[in-house]
Amino acid sequence: ADAIVVRHPDQGSVARFAKGVHVPVINGGDGVGEHPTQALLDLYTIRREFARLGKKVDGAHVAMVGDLKHGRTVHSLIRLLSLYKGLTFTLLAPPSLEMPAELAEAAEAGGHRVRRAASLKDGLKKVDVLYATRIQKERMSGEALETYPLDFRIDKKRVDALCQKDTIVMHPLPRDGTPGSNDLATDLDDDPRLAIFRQTDAGIPVRMAIFAVLLGVENRIAASLKDAAWISPPRIGTGDAPFHRLA
Ligand code: ASP
Repeated sequence: ADAIVVRHPDQGSVARFAKGVHVPVINGGDGVGEHPTQALLDLYTIRREFARLGKKVDGAHVAMVGDLKHGRTVHSLIRLLSLYKGLTFTLLAPPSLEMPAELAEAAEAGGHRVRRAASLKDGLKKVDVLYATRIQKERMSGEALETYPLDFRIDKKRVDALCQKDTIVMHPLPRDGTPGSNDLATDLDDDPRLAIFRQTDAGIPVRMAIFAVLLGVENRIAASLKDAAWISPPRIGTGDAPFHRLA
């Protein structure tokens, strides 16, 4: 193989694997560790959304909500966003599922403000990005999942009441959209603030770019560009069933 993508349940396993091979290894998620390609597509999405909204990443307010202990996408995202300047991170998680202290401390050491909020009501005021995550049940051992103490469900009522008109709502997917879940509800699917479908779409060009750079062909792409034989749908969501001829 010219490159290898490794997705593995053990933290640190991909880095260990990479030491033993001579081709580029891409970390596609290592347990509760990191998910760097997701972070890159998340940043790409934020930059595109902000360009549309006339905002900058420097100084932005990003709220991360849910299982911040096992959610590797937020581990990589807080590190990547910390390369910018003057951000405020609001971390909203129940006490047993908080962001690892070393990641929050590293963001603070990089000059960012890190706040912890106990409820959505306190944490979601004036946020530019609301990044919701899934409760990573498969990674839990001792935590009292059944007595999950706080309610972090993100739905239309809450976003309308607590967020701004230009807050973007993101999620790495998959989400648990079942009624009553502590996750991102589906009733925002038609709301333009919901960026999750644009976010998943961004995964394609960003991962193409990662391959191109790692294989050293990024300067040769322009020479082989051609028009795509397909068109991008104007929007994707549950309401798009007719577009996909499913309705
Ligand atoms: N798809 C993401 C991951 O691989 C997020 C998730 O599974 O909740 O970590």
